[in-house]
Amino acid sequence: MSQKKNENDLMDKIVSLSKRRGFVFPSSEIYGGIGSTWDYGPLGAELKRNLKNYWWDAMTNRRDDIEGLDAAILMHPEVWHTSGHVSEFTDPLVDCKKCKARFRADQLEMSRCPLKPSKSPLECGGELTEARQFNLMFKTYMGPLEDDANIVYIRPETAQGIYVNFLNVKNSSRQKIPFGIAQVGKAFRNEITPGNFIFRTREFEQMEMQFFVHPSEDQKWFDYWREERWKWYESLGINMDKMRWHEHDEKELAHYAKTAFDIEYEYPFGWQELEGIHNRTDFDLSRHMEATKKDLRYSDDVYTEKFIPYIIETSAGVDRTLLTLLVDGYDEVEIKGEKRVFMRLSPKIAPIQAAVFPLVKKDGMPEFAENVYHELKKRFKTFYDVSGAIGRRYARMDEAGCPFGITIDGQTIEDETMTVRDRDSMEQKRMKVGELIEFLEKQIYG
Ligand code: ATP
Repeated sequence: MSQKKNENDLMDKIVSLSKRRGFVFPSSEIYGGIGSTWDYGPLGAELKRNLKNYWWDAMTNRRDDIEGLDAAILMHPEVWHTSGHVSEFTDPLVDCKKCKARFRADQLEMSRCPLKPSKSPLECGGELTEARQFNLMFKTYMGPLEDDANIVYIRPETAQGIYVNFLNVKNSSRQKIPFGIAQVGKAFRNEITPGNFIFRTREFEQMEMQFFVHPSEDQKWFDYWREERWKWYESLGINMDKMRWHEHDEKELAHYAKTAFDIEYEYPFGWQELEGIHNRTDFDLSRHMEATKKDLRYSDDVYTEKFIPYIIETSAGVDRTLLTLLVDGYDEVEIKGEKRVFMRLSPKIAPIQAAVFPLVKKDGMPEFAENVYHELKKRFKTFYDVSGAIGRRYARMDEAGCPFGITIDGQTIEDETMTVRDRDSMEQKRMKVGELIEFLEKQIYG
C-alpha cells in the first residue's frame, strides 16, 4: 500500500472516530454541511475546554507575570488598518482555468484537484492563472446601514485585542515589565483552501500570549518562551519526535517580526505549523501609538527612561492542538485477533478521566459502583456504564480516550477493593476508594 494511502487512511479513521464517539461533527450536517466548519460534540467540547483550561492555567494561574484578557471580537475598524491587516493580510490566490477551483499559490503541492483528488493542481493537467492577492478578513456591517462607513472586520487574530488593551491591563493590574497578557478566543479567516479536517478552518480558536519586555531583553525572553512552549507540549505527552522547530527565513518573515520560529508537528499530511513564537519588536505598539496619539510608552522606577516595549508572542491554535492530540493519540492494537482502537489522550485533558463499571448487574455491585461513581465525580470527569460485556465497555472507553477504568467485582463486595485498569499499560491494580482517589489525583493532576 502506498504511503499516501496510509496517510489518508489515518485521517479518515480519525474523522470517522471523531464522529462515532462524539469528538467532532461536520457543521450543519443535516443540511449537507458547510465547507470547513466543524462542531465539537460532547467529548470534543470537553476535550477542547480541558485543553484551553490547561493552557490558561500554565499561562496565567501558575504565574505572577501574566494577566488574562477576554477582548471583543468586533473592534474599531481602524485597528485593522493600523495593524496592517487591511493592506497586508493576504494570501496569493490562483484559479484553475479548467475546473475553476481556487488554490493558495504557496500551497499547491499539498492541495488536491477536485476532479482528480489523488493529484495536486500542479500534476492534474489543469492550467493555473497568475497569482493575485486575496484578503483573508471577513467583513460585516455594524448597525442597520450596509454602507462602507459601517464596515467592521471579524477579528482574524486575538492579538490586536491585547495590544489595544496594553495600557488598561498595565494600569489596572499594576504589572511591571516584563509581563504578559494572555487570551483565548475565536478568530476568523476566509482561508482560500481550508481542509485537513480541523487543521485549517475559517472559524477557529487561538490561545495567544503577548509578553512585553525591554528591547534590550528581547532575545532572552524569546529563547525563554521557545523553551516554555516546547515543554508545555511535552507535558501533554505528545511524541516529541514528531515535533520540530522551523525558523522563518527572510521570505517567510511577517512584516512585523524580527525573528519567528514555528513549532511544527508531523501530521499524516506532512510537517505543518502548530504554534508560532514571534519577536514582534515594538511594531504593534508603535503603530497603535501613532494612529491613536495615545502614549503607549513605558517607564517605572527601574526603567526611568520611557520606551516602547518589545513584544514576544506565543500564538497557538486550539483546534490544531486538538487535532495534534487526536493524531498523536490514535493507536490500533490487535488483541486476541481483534483490531482495537485506543485514543491515548493525556489524563490531564482527557474528556473522561475515569470510568466506573460494575462487573455484573447483581450481587450489590451496581449499588457499590454507583457510590464510587458519585464520589469520583466530585473530583474527576467520570463516566458510569453498566451495559454490555465488560470488554465492550472497556473498548468504548479506550476509543473515547479515558485513561482509567474501574471495575467493581465479586471481591469488591468482600474486601471493598476494586480493579483500576490503566488504558496504556493495561495493568490492573486493586485498591480501596481512598487509595483510588489519591492514585487518580496523582496521575491526573501530577
Ligand atoms: P498558516 O501558515 O498555517 O496559515 P499562520 O502562520 O497564518 O498559519 P498565525 O497567524 O501565526 O498562523 O496563527 C497562529 C496559530 O493559529 C497557528 O499556529 C495555528 O495554530 C492557528 N491558526 C491559524 N490559522 C488557522 C486556521 N485557518 N485554522 C485553524 N488554526 C489556525
